Amino acid sequence: MTDRISDIWGERTAYGAGQAWPERVDQVLAEGLAADDVDRWVQSACVLCSNGCGCSIAVKDGRMVGIRGRKEDRVNHGRLGPKGLYGSWQGEAHKDRLTRPLIRVDGQLVETDWDTAMGRIVDRSRELLASKGPLSHGFYTSGQLFLEEYYALGILGKAGIGTPHMDGNTRLCTATAAAALKESFGADGQPGSYTDIDECSAIFLYGHNMAETQTVLWSRVLDRLDGPNPPRLVCVDPRDTEVARRAEVHLPVHPGTNLALMNGLIRELFTHGWIDEDYIARHTANVEQLRSVVDPWTPERVAETCGVEAADVRRAAEIFGTENKILSTVLQGFYQSAHATASACQVNNLHLLRGMLGSPGRGILQMNGQPTAQNNRECGADGDLPAFRNWENPEHVQDLARLWNVDPAIIPHWAPPTHALQIFRYAEQGSIGLLWISATNPAVSMPQLSRIRDILRQDSLFLVVQDIYLSETAQCADVVLPCAAWGEKTGTFTNADRTVHLSEKAVDPPGEARSDLDVFLDYARRMDFRDKDGRPLLAWKGPEDGFEAWKECSRGRPCDYTGLSYAKLRGGSGIQWPCTDERPDGTERLYTDGEFPTDPHYCESYGHDLLTGATTGETVYKATVQPGKAWFKALDYSPPHEEPDADYPLRYTTGRTVYHFHTRTKTGRSRRLNDAAPEPWIEMSVEDAARAGCREGDIVRVTSRRGRLEVPVRVGDIRPGTVFAPFHYGYWDAPDGGTAGGGSTSGGGAASPARPVRAANELTITEWDPVSKQPVFKNAAVRVERLRAGDGPSKAPATTASRPATGGQP
Ligand code: SF4
Repeated sequence: MTDRISDIWGERTAYGAGQAWPERVDQVLAEGLAADDVDRWVQSACVLCSNGCGCSIAVKDGRMVGIRGRKEDRVNHGRLGPKGLYGSWQGEAHKDRLTRPLIRVDGQLVETDWDTAMGRIVDRSRELLASKGPLSHGFYTSGQLFLEEYYALGILGKAGIGTPHMDGNTRLCTATAAAALKESFGADGQPGSYTDIDECSAIFLYGHNMAETQTVLWSRVLDRLDGPNPPRLVCVDPRDTEVARRAEVHLPVHPGTNLALMNGLIRELFTHGWIDEDYIARHTANVEQLRSVVDPWTPERVAETCGVEAADVRRAAEIFGTENKILSTVLQGFYQSAHATASACQVNNLHLLRGMLGSPGRGILQMNGQPTAQNNRECGADGDLPAFRNWENPEHVQDLARLWNVDPAIIPHWAPPTHALQIFRYAEQGSIGLLWISATNPAVSMPQLSRIRDILRQDSLFLVVQDIYLSETAQCADVVLPCAAWGEKTGTFTNADRTVHLSEKAVDPPGEARSDLDVFLDYARRMDFRDKDGRPLLAWKGPEDGFEAWKECSRGRPCDYTGLSYAKLRGGSGIQWPCTDERPDGTERLYTDGEFPTDPHYCESYGHDLLTGATTGETVYKATVQPGKAWFKALDYSPPHEEPDADYPLRYTTGRTVYHFHTRTKTGRSRRLNDAAPEPWIEMSVEDAARAGCREGDIVRVTSRRGRLEVPVRVGDIRPGTVFAPFHYGYWDAPDGGTAGGGSTSGGGAASPARPVRAANELTITEWDPVSKQPVFKNAAVRVERLRAGDGPSKAPATTASRPATGGQP
């Protein structure tokens, strides 16, 4: 195998339309080890992005010593990307792992035992429930736990405590995917399948730098591009990504203008009659509203608003209007930008207009970012009701109450679930007195970090953090619970094309660390949560009990898991839900018959106004919906709230690099990955760098209305007027020894005037999409000033979209 740090996507295995993607098994073992030295291989799937590549973990002497792709798995056919190869199994074995619970004593975190740590939590929990009631509790979880863990958390939060204040960091990455699917089709769930790549004649990537975020999926695209009859590629992205470089049409829109572009593309379909009148009549509703909203958006007006060529808008629309098998994928460039849900709905609308879904090569992937985000959404740990039930539908609430044998009144359904930024606002105001954060690091990933740090540290908040490392967030906690990581526990998770994988425990967790599931079950037991008949609310003995319970919860719902079991998931490939007795092999594509889950008795949501976020409500929905038909939702474009001006003349956008995942908790501790991208940077165009008087590697200060960053500059191929910063970097490994946020147990996680300021979210804005409530990370206004010369070129990767400008130095 080639060096997969520099050769990110590995060797090409070209194939043509309609053929099976060839197998290629990628494997890495610890230095000096041969395959024969491995004691055993344990089945799993990678948890470092939403692709969900099937893999096996190599174990020797009770330690993880390598990884290999599973060739029989439908997702990856044996391949793994750089993060999968070098991330989890190396990152989890690091000396920094938490091994004992910590509690705060006289301002310092000190080691203790589980009884003491859990006792503190339970005491505070009981006290708050008695004095302030269930709304005193908030839970903020992850996109990286397992299905069984989310479901346990969903039950204890909703039926044990009865709080609506539950969300996950999935709010930051995939909330818009869920929202757009609900608005258009009536329920969450990806219509498409990864196998659509094998069949399609065109791929549209909307704000989706697939080459860096889902490298194995991009390998599949590259193999099609190098084979006979390659698909045509259209890319919407302000940066010159690898995707853009391979695209026939690249639309480098100004950040914040996606909706104008989408309205223009749809207008072209109407103008040229590239629509399927019959499909529209039989399977959709509200097309005339769509037509009137997009009518003003001529290609020229789009060009002026978005900063692209009108001819390119026409070319992209023509490809969509005339190709026969089109796959669309969408990610953070749309989800974390202004008008997120409206823009993502327009992708659904394009497909509905052409009747382009539900058959091979014709699909939509409203992608996820994180590996288990789908399960968070399914299981209700993000505030939604489990199994895509509708909180506004009393029948659905009754259904759950029956399943859990609790009074329906305890299940929060009097108002929409509380989204993440509102949970933090309640903590700031003091109405939430206990915030329990699991497996995520908001002290680096949330917008406007100085405010988030203040909230996490305030005396009125009792903060519980469970994690595998002492993250910037954990450093602010009152109680820290050490948890088992991916290869150290058993459970299932579901990727972005609905493929469910089983991940088996390969090794023991270090020290006293426990699985997140054990922690939640232990809390439920200590709190003595009981059902109506006095039986324990959560009496599961382990993850398989949780999976069986979940199957019953999902029965008859769109994400029906009843045909799956641990036994069935062992040995072969992952399987796509819905999987039932009638569909024992799973379901490759949704909506093959043009029937959508919009019936008011069945749908997950009654929908929202895309401009205000106001819920449509049961009465209006029932009066207007045409059950079984998809709904064209549309919104006119208006500029983002924070636009460049004289003081802050540049547009600021944040994103990812191929070598890191989220806040680098694991990937920053993998030597190979960290060496590939060891420190933060910002990217500027040649023109903007010249204007600011800086050269490659100079240290610059980037300032927004909310904070500043001081990092080296990479002069790259980004569109002029826009600067980009990777959001992965925090303070635990800052070059001053970590004192800017890491290493200390006295409540760090902070930048200070004397310390390096390196987290991209110091600058981002506290603002969210009105429907999905996903924060707007990709629109802010900043200025850039040169501070001093650096030590040489920036250490930004040169293998990806961050590469130095093709035109050279200014
Ligand atoms: S593409 Fe994603 S799931 Fe697959 S190996 Fe890479 S990080 Fe893991």
